[in-house]
Amino acid sequence: MEPAHQDEHLPLHCEDFCRKYEHNKKVSGASTDIEKLYEAVPQLGNTFKIKGKIGEGTFSSVYLAIAQLRGGHEEKVALKHLIPTSHPVRIAAELQCLIIAGGQDNVMGVKYCFRKNDHVVIVMPYLEHESFLDILNSLSFEEVRDYMFNLFKALKRIHDFGIVHRDVKPSNFLYNRQQKEYALVDFGLAQGTPETKIELLKVIQSEAQQGSGTYNKPQITLESQVSVTSIAPPRQLVHQSAAKTANKRPCSMSQTQIKQGHKRKEGPECLSVQRSVFGERNFNVRSSAFQDRSTVKLIKQSRVADIASRKLSSKKKTTSTVNNGLAKKAASSCPANLTCNCYAKDRVCCVCLSRRQQVAPRAGTPGFRAPEVLMKCPNQTTAIDIWSAGIIFLSLLSGRYPFYKASDDLTALAQIMTIRGSRESIQAAKTFGKSILSSKEIPAQDLRKLCERLRGKSTSIDISTGDIHISPSQEPALPVEIGNTSESVVQTPRKHMKYQKQSCHEGDGIDIRTMEKAPNLKGWDKVPDEAYNLLDRLLDLNPATRITARDALLHPFFKNMKQ
Ligand code: ADP
Ligand code: MG
Ligand code: ZN
Repeated sequence: MEPAHQDEHLPLHCEDFCRKYEHNKKVSGASTDIEKLYEAVPQLGNTFKIKGKIGEGTFSSVYLAIAQLRGGHEEKVALKHLIPTSHPVRIAAELQCLIIAGGQDNVMGVKYCFRKNDHVVIVMPYLEHESFLDILNSLSFEEVRDYMFNLFKALKRIHDFGIVHRDVKPSNFLYNRQQKEYALVDFGLAQGTPETKIELLKVIQSEAQQGSGTYNKPQITLESQVSVTSIAPPRQLVHQSAAKTANKRPCSMSQTQIKQGHKRKEGPECLSVQRSVFGERNFNVRSSAFQDRSTVKLIKQSRVADIASRKLSSKKKTTSTVNNGLAKKAASSCPANLTCNCYAKDRVCCVCLSRRQQVAPRAGTPGFRAPEVLMKCPNQTTAIDIWSAGIIFLSLLSGRYPFYKASDDLTALAQIMTIRGSRESIQAAKTFGKSILSSKEIPAQDLRKLCERLRGKSTSIDISTGDIHISPSQEPALPVEIGNTSESVVQTPRKHMKYQKQSCHEGDGIDIRTMEKAPNLKGWDKVPDEAYNLLDRLLDLNPATRITARDALLHPFFKNMKQ
């Protein structure tokens, strides 16, 4: 990796020291976490040797472990330890998605699940995978085609089950470049379509319709229960599809109950855990975490995004108060001591029901959110995942990741408009009953030109004066990660472009390193029109006409590919 430019003035040993310190901190942090996990779920120790942490998000930590099988065989697995404060229905729904839809067509399956008290660990086959950012600019065009094809395979599969993933992005679509293996993971935000085959997703009400915190509606009793109770340690771990697993598993759907732990710590982290913007800190994937204090106010939207985003932020601030208030209210008909009494029973007690769900807008990552999500459209469909796939495709074609960076919905919407056009956005919003007011008309971009430009094919571009910035008077939307090829150039107002120029020395916002890599063209010199046509269909502002996963697989872009 190249040294970051802004570090050049630092004496080398200092930089080294800092890096080592950070590294050690990470490693020791991970090893104490491993010890804690063994303590929390001791039965893991019988079967697994936990090697290290491979991912950490707000709602889970994921570890690589070696399963010791009979006959001395070993197998790599991924252990996903969900944070103990996750809502039990949420956990069970995530598990049910993996069990029922997973295990084929590039959808991650599940092998086992362990629980002790409020600790739940999902055991999955391990898929070694690349960091999207690391490989983005070395992928051949053919690899990109394969990647997208396999992503649509996974999306078709889950959409056929009536699952809306809601968080489709590269860190949730694992890619093993060498083996050409793919896996869609992380159903932590999934919701069901009205016809969903995943029973527990029916329980989870659409946040858009109900506001958050609705898993706790007191009348919900769980008729068909999914077990997240500890399963006897496997005598033998065998590769089997998740569906088969579901049938054979000793704890069938109706056997045990979902429950959240008893003696919950009352630390502040129990109350208001928020899924951060770019949720996970993933130790495999060099992710760019940024704090976006956007001030883009280009769009004044009547009764729509403004209000919605304000609601969101005030919710953030008052989370703990709301939590306490609600919990008290909901639990008022419960025994005063508030001890959970649903353990091993077939319904969730009022104490557990009164626990508030993760209050954060667990609704994906702003840069990947479809316009109808950003505008809080109540009936969201599987089309929102297709939009996110379109954003991934846009990254792959342009060599830019993340493509959009935004910490709030309004900014994200403004960014979309810079690519898809303001008139088009306003028009699409109308179709689902929303209105956008834009102070300035922004033309839609030609997708091929845009991608080629960003990829660095054209050398005479000056984005800072080009046609894609929002308004020259805005504050920088976000601090740019300096020395990182991930700068997003799309949302950037003028001031921000200056920032970017410094970080890249020259090149008017185009990262010159992208161009240095250009000589080996790897098929990028002849990207067919079909690619941009598909991209256009994925990034259709209107969810009703946006292409489906099924149709995407049949798109001419994928002709001659094995279905
Ligand atoms: P979260 O809900 O915290 O985002 P994920 O399920 O997305 O959790 O997992 C976080 C990260 O852990 C993933 O981005 C991936 O890097 C790694 N991971 C998850 N599942 C697996 C798996 N089965 N094999 C290998 N790595 C995995
Ligand atoms: Mg994830
Ligand atoms: Zn309970």
